[in-house]
This record gives sequence, C-alpha cells and structure tokens, in this order.
Amino acid sequence: MKKIQMVDLKGQYDKIAATVNTSIQEVLDTTTYINGPQVHQFQKNLETYLGVKHVIPCANGTDALQIAMMGLGLQPGDEVITADFTFAATVEVIALLQLTPVLVDVDLENMNISLERIKAAITPKTKAIVPVHLFGRAANMEAIMELATAHNLFVIEDNAQAIGADFVSSVGVSSKLGTIGHVGATSFFPSKNLGCYGDGGAIFTNDDALAHTIRGIVNHGMYERYHHDVVGVNSRLDSVQAAVLNAKLPLLNDYNQARRTAAAKYNAALAGHVNIVTPSFDNEKNNHVFHQYTLRILNADRNGLMQHLLDKGIPCAIYYPIPLHSQKAYRDVRYKEEDFPITNQLVKEVISLPMHTELDDEQIQFITDSVLEFLK
Ligand SMILES: *Cc1c(COP(=O)(O)O)cnc(C)c1O
Repeated sequence: MKKIQMVDLKGQYDKIAATVNTSIQEVLDTTTYINGPQVHQFQKNLETYLGVKHVIPCANGTDALQIAMMGLGLQPGDEVITADFTFAATVEVIALLQLTPVLVDVDLENMNISLERIKAAITPKTKAIVPVHLFGRAANMEAIMELATAHNLFVIEDNAQAIGADFVSSVGVSSKLGTIGHVGATSFFPSKNLGCYGDGGAIFTNDDALAHTIRGIVNHGMYERYHHDVVGVNSRLDSVQAAVLNAKLPLLNDYNQARRTAAAKYNAALAGHVNIVTPSFDNEKNNHVFHQYTLRILNADRNGLMQHLLDKGIPCAIYYPIPLHSQKAYRDVRYKEEDFPITNQLVKEVISLPMHTELDDEQIQFITDSVLEFLK
C-alpha cells in the first residue's frame, strides 16, 4: 500500500508534472515574475470558470479577506458577524482592521454559521456577515443573503475551502460558491482544493465599482502610476504561482469529484455505526467538495481514536480544537459559554481523516477498518 498522507501533493504533481513544468518554464524564460501574462490569463480563466465578472488575484487567502473588507469601506467599530468554528484567519483580519468581530455559534448538521445566531447578533452597528463554507460545504447562502438585504449588510464569503462548489437557489439558479455574496475570498494554499506551489489567493465580485477599488488597494492604493488615492497594501499573486494555477484549474472539477468519490467510500464503510456521524453529503442546494472529510465521534474516546490511527501510520487531525471565542487573542467579555453550545461540542467530537485527490481503495479500506477496529 502507498504511504497514506493527509494531503498527497507529490502524487498529484507526478500526474501533471509535464504540463506544470512547461507552464513554469515559460515564466522562467520570460522573467516576468511579477504581473506576468500568466497572472492576467489566470484571472480570465478563473472569471470564466466561476461565472463572475471580476477576479482580483492576491498574495494569499488571508489578504483576500482583508482586502475585501477594506474595499467595502468598513470602518473601525463596525461590527462583523462570523462563525466561531473556523480557521482563525477569518476573525484575524476583522480584528486587524479594528472592526469589531462578533463570533456566533454554528449548526450541528453542517458545522456552518447559524442563521438564528446571526439574527440574534445583529445590532445597529452591524455592517457585514462573513459566512465560511467550512470543509467544502455551503453555508445557507440564500437565507443569509435575504437577511443581509433586509438589514442592509454586506456579505463576504470566505470560500477558502469550497472553490468549485455549486450552490443552487430555491428557484433553480446555480452559482459557484464565492460569487453569491457582495464579495468572495479564496486561498490557493497548496493543500486547498485548488492549490498552487506557494501562497496565493483571490477576491471575486460582480460589482464593477468594488472591483475597481480593490484593484487599487492590492497595488498600494494606486489607480494611476505613483498616484496613491487610498491606503493600500502590496498583495500580488506571482507569475510562477499563476502558471501552476493555469495548469491546475482545468482539473479542478475532476479533483473535486475525486474528493467526493473518496468521501462516498468513507461514508459507505462507516455508515450506521452508533459512535460515528458521517458528513451529510449533498442536499438539493449544494454539492460538498470535501476540503476536509470530518467525522463526529459520539460517546467514545475521540482522542484515543486519533492516537490509534496515528500509531497505524494514518495521519489525521482535529480541525479545529479550540473555538475562536476561547482563543486568547479573540476572547471578549461579551461572549458567554452558553451562546456557543455547538462549537463547544464540535471541538470535542470532530476528527478529520486523510482527504485528497489521490486516495485509493486500499488506503480507504485500511483507514476505515482501523477506525472501526478502535470503536468496535
Ligand atoms: C486557508 C484559509 C484561510 C487563509 O488562507 P491563506 O491563503 O492561508 O492565507 C482563510 N479562511 C479559511 C476558512 C481557510 O481555510
């Protein structure tokens, strides 16, 4: 059996090495390392793939979120509601911009931000909601957009974990996640569903004026060379990363399908066990693209299971072990433990198994056998 990896970047690269190498070699030959034609090409390719008017590439997913918030003109003291159960980057940029993070609990079923909790958290100072499509599964975008419209709030989608996923509205309109809110942000960190070979990110929007503002912000606030109209940042996707992404974007649908196939096999092997809740797959509204394959372990020794798997050479991880409201950097007197029953529960129950595009049947069988062996 091939050695099991949490993410098998080498196995994936081996299959596309010729294309990727050629694509990178072009950058080396032309030495247009910054803002080369590859970056512009990737922008166009991703706009077409997502069906969105504007893609603005940038240096990483955290910058993408920050720049989206700067572009919307959010001001210190504005309240921004986001999920308590996510990677810290989401809340980090809110705090960094001196906006006021308002963390709210998630739903048990899909681990995404709770609509009821958002409603309860809205105040006259609320300016934006940041849903995170956690682990590759859509937050309830239709209801969130309705709520945002009713309260005149911006919606910034953190789509770092769900690029390529479709979301179908109740009237049957299908859109790519990340293009439904006023602005979307994603990451091309190597292990993401569309990963480059370093850092990378992008911002998406259908709003022409916002896209223009953001294009200046990513480039030192310049709209005309050496005229600095706003305070910006330096956040670029470099040409080598764009070359890698141009080679990989045509494979994204296949990659997401490979993840879904692996998830279906895991689910089938683990179905019906009293101690295991497998991730719900699809509903009529969205297709889960399984950035992570995350189980909930009930009434059993989750940490013992993790150790058992590690002992057998099976990588696994707890995403995420500590709720954001309990993190030193983000604690706040406004938060009460009873407001976060679901996150507090999930951090004790979740375990993520290896998930990537190269998992084979033998590996999946060994992993699921090992899980069942421990839980009996
Ligand atoms: C990865 C990730 C980010 C940050 O992306 P980077 O490219 O690592 O800066 C933000 N939000 C979520 C939910 C992520 O998973």
